[in-house]
Amino acid sequence: MTSTAEPLSGTVEQTEVAARADAFVAELSEWLRIPSISADPGHRGDVARSAEWLVATLRRDGWPVTEVWDDTAALPAVYAHWPAADPDAPTVLVYGHHDVQPADLEDGWSFAPFEPQVVGEELRGRGASDDKGHIAMVLLGVRAHLAATGATSPAVSLKLLVEGEEESGSAHLAELLDAHADALTCDEIVVTDTGMVGRDTPTVCCGMRGMVDLEVVYRGASVDLHSGQFGGAVPNPVTELARLVAAFHDDDGHIAVPGFYDDVREPTAEERAAWAALPFDEPAWLAGSAAGATATSGEAGWSTYERLWARPTAEVNGLHGGYAGPGHKTIVPHTATLKMTFRLVDAQDPARIKPLLERFVAERVPAGIDAEVSTGGPGVPPLICDLDSDLVASIREAMGIALGAEVLPAREGGSGPEALLTDALGAPLAFLGVMLPGDRIHAPDERAVLPLLLRGAESVAHLVRLLGARC
Ligand SMILES: [Zn+2]
Repeated sequence: MTSTAEPLSGTVEQTEVAARADAFVAELSEWLRIPSISADPGHRGDVARSAEWLVATLRRDGWPVTEVWDDTAALPAVYAHWPAADPDAPTVLVYGHHDVQPADLEDGWSFAPFEPQVVGEELRGRGASDDKGHIAMVLLGVRAHLAATGATSPAVSLKLLVEGEEESGSAHLAELLDAHADALTCDEIVVTDTGMVGRDTPTVCCGMRGMVDLEVVYRGASVDLHSGQFGGAVPNPVTELARLVAAFHDDDGHIAVPGFYDDVREPTAEERAAWAALPFDEPAWLAGSAAGATATSGEAGWSTYERLWARPTAEVNGLHGGYAGPGHKTIVPHTATLKMTFRLVDAQDPARIKPLLERFVAERVPAGIDAEVSTGGPGVPPLICDLDSDLVASIREAMGIALGAEVLPAREGGSGPEALLTDALGAPLAFLGVMLPGDRIHAPDERAVLPLLLRGAESVAHLVRLLGARC
């Protein structure tokens, strides 16, 4: 199960991981057969079954405290606790999720998504990488840590929180964290739901963007009007909404909403230098990850990584209005709809950004148009890790040993519940995961690269040892 592509560390932890590799693949494959799709009410029973599977596995491993939490509106989550022998050892909480994105053969899968298969060095199936593969990786890492140290408990107190509805937006995570605040007390948080820039480019995620929604509906007349009898004499909601869309950016790609950038800080010199040192093959990235896009674009003066990781966005997700059927239909449409999402960075607070967006729209509604504006739920705050923290340094060291290379700081452009975790639990957070851009998470034919998952497990084993040695 080892690959010649990854340098081998030769550590005891690596030997212990390798000894368990075949059992690990069999075990993870069994879990992947449970279609724990949180978005689909028809799969509620499977989400519960997936939680029970995980608890049974943790019990077999010897975790002293294992619980399914189904006492809130949240879908079943799993909690586990393995205290260190030393009562003064720090407590590290590992977060991940056991629910998966929907998957159907007709979406374009080349095999049944919940009948996992090993092809070469890949394990293929929904959840293989995101995030069951990574939770299984943590379990394997803890086993290897215990075997390598000969101890009966980990070097730091470990807690696991494995959510059951991350893929449908973690709608009840705040409630779950609140209901179980006592059990979840911890000194540090490690999030597994993350990855690296590339297989040959070991990186650790050190930040995620936040997000707010914006939906605008423009209405003119009460029904579509004849474009000959009325066109040119009444406002056209589609034209007017297109004007609004165009106003969000200037010609350099800067977002034109007053005050929008007030809480945006530039990345540190160390981060910019690290990102500049990451290999980036733009044509390959466009053709592969960007699915055949033919050019990059965005805010002037920033690289692609910087645009994705350190700069906020105003993205149109949908702009609809009028007739799009065959032939033509001579109307002035009576309504048009705009959906946008704004990715936020650094200290941009969704609660502060929303009124700025609402004002920007309100100031532009022309006479004769009735506008309905909404900014959805509370939004997601961005999260930036402290690169100078012991936790980030220990993760970089642990992954560096396992992967045999320096691990550079990177970020992800997406958004997750990380800021919610740090706020609710009052602890710093960092990431450890080995997902690759090519893992096709959320897409057909999801896969995990097994040798890399094993290196990830070895990283977990080193991390627990390093964090224990620190105290
Ligand atoms: Zn995930």
